[in-house]
Amino acid sequence: LAQFSGKALIQAEPDASSFPNGGLRSTFEARGYTAWDVTSPAYIFDTENGSTLCIPTAFVSWKGEALDKKTPLLRSMAAVNKAASRVLALFGKKHGYISASCGPEQEYFLIDSRLFHLRPDLYTCGRSLFGAKPAKGQEFEDQYFGTIPDRVLACMMETERECFKLGIPIKTRHNEVAPAQYEVAPIYESANVAHDHQMLTMTLLRRVATKHGFVCLLAEKPFAGVNGSGKHVNWSIGGAGVGNLLEPGHNPHENAQFLTFCSAVIRAVDLHQGLLRASVASAGNDHRLGANEAPPAIISIYLGDMLNEVIEQVKKSGSASSSRKGGHMTLGVDTLPVLPKDAGDRNRTSPFAFTGNKFEFRAVGSAFSVAGPLTVLNTIMADSLDKLADELAAALKKNSDFNSALQSVLKDILTKHGRIIFNGNGYSEEWHKEAAKRGLKNLRTTPDALPEIVAKSSIEVFERQGVLSKAELESREEIYTHSYVLAINTESKLVAEIAKTLLLPAALKYAADLTPVEKTKSGGKLRKEVVGLADELSAAIDALDTARDVTKSDTHAQAKHSCDKVLPAMLKVRAAADALEEIVADEYWPLPSYQELLFLR
Ligand code: ADP
Ligand code: MG
Repeated sequence: LAQFSGKALIQAEPDASSFPNGGLRSTFEARGYTAWDVTSPAYIFDTENGSTLCIPTAFVSWKGEALDKKTPLLRSMAAVNKAASRVLALFGKKHGYISASCGPEQEYFLIDSRLFHLRPDLYTCGRSLFGAKPAKGQEFEDQYFGTIPDRVLACMMETERECFKLGIPIKTRHNEVAPAQYEVAPIYESANVAHDHQMLTMTLLRRVATKHGFVCLLAEKPFAGVNGSGKHVNWSIGGAGVGNLLEPGHNPHENAQFLTFCSAVIRAVDLHQGLLRASVASAGNDHRLGANEAPPAIISIYLGDMLNEVIEQVKKSGSASSSRKGGHMTLGVDTLPVLPKDAGDRNRTSPFAFTGNKFEFRAVGSAFSVAGPLTVLNTIMADSLDKLADELAAALKKNSDFNSALQSVLKDILTKHGRIIFNGNGYSEEWHKEAAKRGLKNLRTTPDALPEIVAKSSIEVFERQGVLSKAELESREEIYTHSYVLAINTESKLVAEIAKTLLLPAALKYAADLTPVEKTKSGGKLRKEVVGLADELSAAIDALDTARDVTKSDTHAQAKHSCDKVLPAMLKVRAAADALEEIVADEYWPLPSYQELLFLR
């Protein structure tokens, strides 16, 4: 007789030994404990063959160190509540629990599964490592506003239905910029629940796609030459008693509370630019950031004209006396209603943009868990609010007038940290120069960015807020660096393998078959070209093998080597192969083309 007690659900003890540990523990002390996270709803996951009761859990080692992403996220939410409460108390505000909220937008590709399975790069790495540019890409900009193809729409709707069953409030569906690219977004929820729901949404996107003969690609840059996929993390803080603390209201300059919380964000992002950049660093996202389709690797804040004007005034005088009103925009068609004009336009080029009543962190990659970026945002925000509360309390001791005390504090913060604000074109060359002048960090690659996780200022802020210890941070930095090396290792192995066993043989076979017509003008010319490129390809493969052979004893040195030497060598192989794809007869070329992958649906 077997009995099942409820206790088993609350805490369990799975083996943690096959979990990456980053030096947190050795295999002989491999105990891990799960603990029920009661703040996120448990759910029943239905499949054709049965149903599973799923309980959102935190996962910690027997020493109590966080092994997961949920524990730090929960700790960071508690930190936000504590610090925001301190500030609100100084405002004399009654409030309940202050929570961080998140609405993550997910971009993805849907590719026909039969073609997908003919591409070892796609089914092994989730992104293409070869592929000549098709005659048509995204230059017509006809995909974004086009009709959603029937088969895709059927797949999207079924995914949404499955999401609703699990309580995931999907709100938005649309085409994205690249051919075969789409987006789904929910209504925002408490950051922790939004995170769990986001993970489930990715699972469901993949599962449902296969039923419709698609494969869902979540990689950041599945295809060169067309846009990659991101995950926009919309983030705000607020609570039932006080509403959204990042909501400006109708007259921002009167809204001291809003300006206070906004200034805290500005300070946090300026002080911890590197950490934010590190929270979105991965081998996949490196191909997207700074590629003129996604924000650059330089972190800055976009505020929009109206808010920027207010901030400039506070900087000058400590108070703002006027603010540009949104005004109204008529469309010139009598039958349409007058639309309120947003006081700030959108700026797609900014990694961190104020969008009316929330900030949108756009540098996050499509395959990421939002827990990392959210944990960083909450932690640095909490720390900034704590500091602001300290300063405000001190100013109030000297100056009993609340408004002038607050003004002096905000003026000081904005003067010190205003350099992080940039409202122009983040893609432009001038911004790169200007950002350097301002002393902003430009961490282009993952190996440049990851060390920020263990920088002194990062360890201090995480420890002060009780979110992650030095050891927990070091283990994460180590694991992410190792993952980067593994990703490039796998990709480079595959590049060499595909080039040697599929592409070079195809090119040589074609060249051999052209031999009988070598004496003709066209045959001779073509054969010469094919042979020339095949030689180039062969040399590039040798160079890649040489670069791949180097092993460094230190993970960080290996990551640098992968980035500086292996990646460029992979690109050389690709360049020769893509050039061959353009001239080798179609029946010889063994991989489905970009054209087929992106346009057959
Ligand atoms: P867009 O593509 O224009 O940015 P979407 O509707 O696709 O807009 O996505 C916006 C996301 O931001 C949605 O998930 C939405 O729920 C979320 N959001 C809206 N308000 C807030 C808020 N106060 N805090 C966090 N997220 C929010
Ligand atoms: Mg959107």
